[in-house]
Parts: sequence; C-alpha cells; structure tokens
Amino acid sequence: MDRRSFTLGLAAGLASPLTGLAQTAPGYRGPNVILVRFGGGVRRAETIDEAATWAPYLRHTLAPRGTFIPDLRIDKLEGVNTSHAEGTLNLLTGRYLAYRDASALLSDRLEPTEPTLFEYLRRAFDIPSHEVLLINGEDRPQEEFFTFGAGDHFGIDYRSEMLSLHRFKLYRTRMQLAEGRLTDEARLALEEEQTRLLTIDPRGATPDPSPQVEAFWARWRKGFGDDGLRNPRGDRLLTELATRAMTELKPRFMMVNYQDPDYVHWGNPSHYTRAIAVIDEGLQRLVSLADADPFYRDNTIFVITPDCGRDANPLAEVPFQHHFNSRSAHEVWAMIFGPGIARGVIDRPVDQSAIAPTIAAAMGFAATRAEGDVIEGAFL
Ligand SMILES: [Zn+2]
Repeated sequence: MDRRSFTLGLAAGLASPLTGLAQTAPGYRGPNVILVRFGGGVRRAETIDEAATWAPYLRHTLAPRGTFIPDLRIDKLEGVNTSHAEGTLNLLTGRYLAYRDASALLSDRLEPTEPTLFEYLRRAFDIPSHEVLLINGEDRPQEEFFTFGAGDHFGIDYRSEMLSLHRFKLYRTRMQLAEGRLTDEARLALEEEQTRLLTIDPRGATPDPSPQVEAFWARWRKGFGDDGLRNPRGDRLLTELATRAMTELKPRFMMVNYQDPDYVHWGNPSHYTRAIAVIDEGLQRLVSLADADPFYRDNTIFVITPDCGRDANPLAEVPFQHHFNSRSAHEVWAMIFGPGIARGVIDRPVDQSAIAPTIAAAMGFAATRAEGDVIEGAFL
C-alpha cells in the first residue's frame, strides 16, 4: 500500500458513520468485477454455439480472452426451478433454494435468505454502497429485492445500491413533489404515481439512496427529462445505466441483469434472437469502456453467465419455455476474463453454485455460506 492510498483509506475510515465492524474493515484493493447476467434465460444453441450464435462478440471475441466454461449446469435438485429470480439468486449466493417467497400480495417475489455477494463484499471491505451496484430492468421490480437478504445474516447495512427505471421514477416523483409549482391536479396525479411505485416495491424507499446515487439521477433527469420518452428502453436501457454508472460512480462490483430474451414467452422466436443480439451489443459497449478507461483497464474481471437455460422441445407450440425442468433449461455456460484469470476452455461440467465463490476468491473474500467450490483452473 502506498502512502496516498493509506491516507485515503484512513480518511475514509474516520469519516465512516457505520458500525465498528465497517470501520475496522480494510479498504478494497482488488480488481473490479462486472457480473453480467445474460438473462431472461438463454440456450447454448443461440449463444455459445460457434456457428449458430446470435452473440458473435461474446462467442468469438470474449470467450478467447479468458476461462470459457461451456458446460455450466444448474443442479437437478428437488424443488429447484429454472427461472430468472431463482437463477440470479443462485449466482449471488452460491447456493440453491436460498430464498423465500416474499409475496404477500404480489406474485413472483423472492428474497434471499442467505448472504449475497454484495453483503459479503461490503462486510469484508470498507466500500461505500454506491460502488456496489445492481442494474435492473424496468419491469422487474421483483428483482429490487436482491440488494440484501432477509434473515439474521448481514442485511441492509451491507446492501448494494440499485439503478433501474423504477428507482429513477421514485427519485423523479419525489423531486417533482418537492419542487412545487404544481396544479392541484398534477400534484394529485404525482402522489398517486408515487404511491403506486411504493406499492410495487415496498422496500424501494428504504433506506434512502446515497448522495452519489441521488446526483447520478439528477444528471440522468437533466439528460433524459421527466417524460420517460427519451431514454433507451429494454436491455438497451440497462446498458445505458451500466455505462453511465461505470463512468460516474466507478463501482468496484456491479451486476447487470439483462432480461429481454425472456419476451419469447409470448411466442415470437425472433424477439428472443434479437434480444440476444442486443445484449451482445451491450457487452461490446461495457467491455470497450472498460478497455479504454484507466480505472478499469487491466484491473477489471468480467463474469458473463445466464440465469437459466430454456427448453428445446420442437413439438411445443412455443419451444422456448423454461419451467418444465427439461435438460436444456439446466444447461448454461460462463465466461470469465480479466487480470489473474487463466485462458482456456474448461471441458468438464461445472455447477452454477461455483460462480459466487469464484467471484469471492477473485475479490479476496470467502463466500462462507456458498455450497459450490471455486472453479479450479480459472485463476493463473
Ligand atoms: Zn421467463
């Protein structure tokens, strides 16, 4: 540690209003990690098949840059559902079934019951919340629950911050109401919108975002306005949020939850393949930014992996569902590249629960409650 980083670390420690534990945690010196959920469920056939891929940048440019795991598997345990929230929490906790149903009124609402990578990281190191980020899709408020877990583990003090359009709308309605200059009618409409947003995600307003994230939204609002018509939508929105966050907030750990291939549930296969191509373009922007920016260059590890696979039943009316426990819904893959990561293909099956402990090892902490093992051969 040089004198400057020592002094900075000391200043950060003195300024920290957190608990004794956080004050004694050391500053973080390891690599940045960007975890990309190639999500909404994708099959190997359309992503990592060399000839058939709809993600050529992923397959032909990124896979050779590090450790390529073509046979990552979701274990066939009793009760395991191959779906989005479940797969994402498998990635974040390194366990299966480490969640409980939190839907009192709303469906499809899972909250982790075991520590997530966000919590392990922020307990091990003194990292402010705005440097540990979760980038979420617009219409998945259920994933707002992943920033910290329920139960008696680390919890809210060690949460990540969340960037999503839902969070922006909470910010915008709050600001608009505070700014006044409203007709009675407009105020009423805004109050109704705010109530609706808070009902979708009751945890969304607690605790308040950090000043850094508030400033992020202020800049976003200045650029894209209040009408919601100018910002990109769908997974392109996630890329926009993620690249701005990389530039403005400099996260040490960031997860990007892409999701749009899942629109194939509605029956149109071209929505699925086009969405894969959009994520591929997003990856190109994220990796190009990291390669060009001195904060990220040679100091950033990317981990790219799906939440779950999809069915491969040619006889089904829509042959791309993922709720029938079929083999290909359990078949996913992973790519890891960056400083300290080996180059090569791991030609044996690796379990999905290995992702979290491997990220933990790369960052210098242990995911002690994970069931999986660090991927052998992934590190130089
Ligand atoms: Zn789905």
